[in-house]
Formats: sequence, C-alpha cells, structure tokens
Amino acid sequence: MSAVPLSTAALQAPPLQWHNRFAALGNRFYTALSPLAVPDPAWVAVSEPCARELGLSDDWWQREDWHALEVFSGNALWPGMQPLASVYSGHQFGVWAGQLGDGRALWLGELETPDGPRELQLKGSGRTPYARMGDGRAVLRSSIREFLGSEAMHALGIPTTRALCVTASPLPVRREQVETAAVVTRVAPSFIRFGHFEHFSHQLGSDDGHDALRRLADFVIDHHASECRDAANPYAALLERTARRTAELLAQWQAVGFCHGVMNTDNMSILGLTIDYGPYGFLDAFDPGHICNHSDEQGRYAYARQPNIAFWNLHALAQAMLPLMRDDEEALAALEPYKTVFPQAMASRMRAKLGLATEGDGDTGLIDGLLTLMAQDQCDFSITFRRLGDFSTAADTDNRKVRDMFIDREAFDAWALRYRERLLAEGSVDAQRRLAMNRVNPKYVLRNHLAEVAIREARAGDYSEVQRLLKVLQQPFDEQPERSVYADFPPDWAQHIEVSCSS
Ligand code: AMP
Ligand code: MG
Repeated sequence: MSAVPLSTAALQAPPLQWHNRFAALGNRFYTALSPLAVPDPAWVAVSEPCARELGLSDDWWQREDWHALEVFSGNALWPGMQPLASVYSGHQFGVWAGQLGDGRALWLGELETPDGPRELQLKGSGRTPYARMGDGRAVLRSSIREFLGSEAMHALGIPTTRALCVTASPLPVRREQVETAAVVTRVAPSFIRFGHFEHFSHQLGSDDGHDALRRLADFVIDHHASECRDAANPYAALLERTARRTAELLAQWQAVGFCHGVMNTDNMSILGLTIDYGPYGFLDAFDPGHICNHSDEQGRYAYARQPNIAFWNLHALAQAMLPLMRDDEEALAALEPYKTVFPQAMASRMRAKLGLATEGDGDTGLIDGLLTLMAQDQCDFSITFRRLGDFSTAADTDNRKVRDMFIDREAFDAWALRYRERLLAEGSVDAQRRLAMNRVNPKYVLRNHLAEVAIREARAGDYSEVQRLLKVLQQPFDEQPERSVYADFPPDWAQHIEVSCSS
C-alpha cells in the first residue's frame, strides 16, 4: 500500500489566524518539513470541547470544503500552517541520551484563543531528521491512549497538553507485531520541554550556544511567563516558576493516582503540563510501588517515586540553565520552593480527598493511616475514595460501603473512629462534605482495561467505544448513573495488560 502524495493545492480552510512565533526562533531550533501522507484516512474521534477552545465551529471536521480529515492525517495543510520538527535532548532513565527531538511530531502553527496562545502539533505524521531509528509513525493503540489520556486529565482539572482529534490509516506499522498507523493532533500553549534547554546548554561550545539558550528562555518568558521579566534575574524566575508548577502538577498526579511511566527530562514540560502519554496508567489497587511501564524494569518511575524524580529532572533543568544564572546558588535557590510547595499541595489535596475543610495537627497521621490500610489491603484507589464520600458521622452506622473495601475490617473501624472524631471536631456536615468530596474524588478514571476495550474495537474498525469513553471521561466527577459500568472494579484480566514504551 503506498501513501497518496501530499496535496499542494491551497485548501479552503476555516477562518483561523495562524501565528508562527516559534518558527521565528530560526532554524537552529527546528527543521521545517511537511508531514508524510497516509492512505485512506478515517476519523477515529474528535474532542468537541478542545475544538471549541480553539474557536473551531462544531462542524469543523465534517465540512467537505475544509478537508480537515486530510489536514489532520498529514495529507494536506491549511494555508498559514508552517510545519516543523523541533530539536531537543534529554536524560532518559537517568542517563544523558544526547540529541532527541520531534522524531514523529510536527508543529503546525499557533492560534490565539481567549485562554492564550495554543500550538497545534501532529504526532505520528512521518519521519523527521530527529527520528533516529524510528519510523516516524504512531500506532492506533497508543494514539487512542494519548487522545483519551489527555482529554481525561484535562477534565480532572490537571494541567496537560490537549488532544483535538485522532485519525487512522490502514498503513502498516511494525512494532512487536504489525499494527496500523494513526495521527493524534495535540494542543498546548507550548510543547517546550526541559530537554529543549538541555539541548542548547550542551551546545555551549559552539559559536552561539549561549545565545540560543538565552533566546529559548526569552521566548518562554515573553510568550508564556511574562511575569518573570521584572525579576532581578528573569531566568532564575522562570526556573522557579517551573519548579513551583511541577510541584503542583505532581501533587495532582499523586492525588488522582496517575502514573506517567516515562518521566525522562524530554517528557517534562517547561510550563508544568502533563506531556507525552505513553505507558501511563491510573492506579487500580493501591500499591505505592506500582510500575505502569512494562519496560521500566528498575521501577525508576514507580508511582511513589514520581515526586522525587520530578525534582531530579528539575535539577537537570537547573544544570542546563546555569549559564543564565549568577552562580550555582542562584539556580539551587530557584528549585528550593519545590521542597515546600509539593508537600503543601499534596497535604491540601489529600485533606480535600478526605473531606477535611480545615487543617488539623493530626491530619498527616490520619491520611497516612488510611493510605497504609489501603496499601495493605490493596484497596482500589479511586473506588475507595469515592465511597469515602458517603461516610456518615451518625453514631449508628458502620459505613458498610467503604468498610467493605477493606480486608482488615477491625483496622478500618479503628481508623474510622479517628476520622469521625476529626470530622465532628470541625463540625462537618455529611451531605455538604459528600458534595465537596465528589468534586475531588473522581468516579470515572481512564483505567487500562477501559482503554483496552475501546482499542480492541477500534482495531476491528469500530470507533464508537472511543467516542463513548471520551464522553464518560469528560465528566469524571458526575454520577452519570447510566454509565456506572465504567466506574466498576477492573476485571481480573486487567492485571495482565502490559503497557510498554512501544508506541
Ligand atoms: P518517547 O520515549 O516516546 O518520549 O520518545 C523519545 C524520543 O524518540 C523522542 O525524540 C521521540 O520523538 C522519538 N520517537 C519515539 N518513537 C518514535 C518513532 N516511532 N519514530 C520516530 N521517533 C520516535
Ligand atoms: Mg517523548
């Protein structure tokens, strides 16, 4: 099967004003090139909320005259799009990996929205000069996972790159087995990673290395972090901003049971967004040592290690930004807030998960006590917290719904006694607390088995489950009683799903 040639005719296009400020950085930062066409593209799914935020009309993907299917499968470009692959480097699994870059992603351009600038990027649109040994493609399976993962995280209120749509093609792609190709369109204020800074820092020996590093930092400050400009050292302020945002992000990941899976420095966003959904996962049974990435044999990126790994990655960023700092101390000082922001954000999110409206001295013990029991009894993370929302402080109840989650019921009863006392001490009202808890403890998360079912059907040519699942995940805190099967315990076979770096 050969790919159809890229259409060069100027297409009718939606009335969008494309900007290309990243492109203006110059060709040290990227290679301009066109996507490679695929045969017989088809729509898999479209995110309506994401499209709306870009200012696209509801029918944008269906309008024949706009050829959106061609554009978002990499077969054509709308006027004003200026595709390019950016170069970055990074540390992978703790080791310097040298030059990486957008091996299969293409930046298309930038739109101005009421929420600020949004860049669009194709992923899986063919080889680029940074593809190394890769084929430049992404398989349907991993593209659906990235699409659903990004939109689910956004609906959970967690900073993330977004996904506008996924398209599929019968083009064969060889992984462990032969699969088929897909293209995800990602959306973010910026796709700049820690690894972009590392890249230009490691080139300081070359003629204008330092200049490129500074220009990259200036670009981020001018377009995405303008409040840093007035600081004594704007670059130190940018580093501190990234440290603070990363701390907040990690607290959100931990509180919802999200495991990223590949927290390499090239997968860390300078804006503190969740980026690069590969072998990620949401916890089923609570296991602090859970490793979601089958390729991560040492468990470097295990759930409980994520906050420390993020701090390690921030040190790699600080190291890269050293040439922009007065001295080492200035760089280290910029990272310092991570040590307080993360634990504070974590404590505050855990208090909210327990429905505690005030701060109390014994809260850490109470929270850790619950998590210890949950780990011992391998309680389902999301279901346990959701059921805790129904906890009653009435004297005559045994709170069976949540109690049934535990094997060691006596241990739970002892904990529940402390919890009840703590709630009564702050005058907590059951109904109000329940409402507040249901706004932070999602009923619906993207468990591996849910994605797996949607992927299985998609591979057989039926994309309707992807769409249905997307709809459920767009309202993760709502009861949606007619969709309750999506909030069930994972089936036994879910334990055997293996998600690896292969994508
Ligand atoms: P990841 O582990 O997915 O973050 O990817 C690390 C690097 O490998 C990035 O520079 C990717 O662009 C590149 N890469 C991964 N898979 C492919 C592929 N199939 N083709 C080209 N480049 C790839
Ligand atoms: Mg990556």
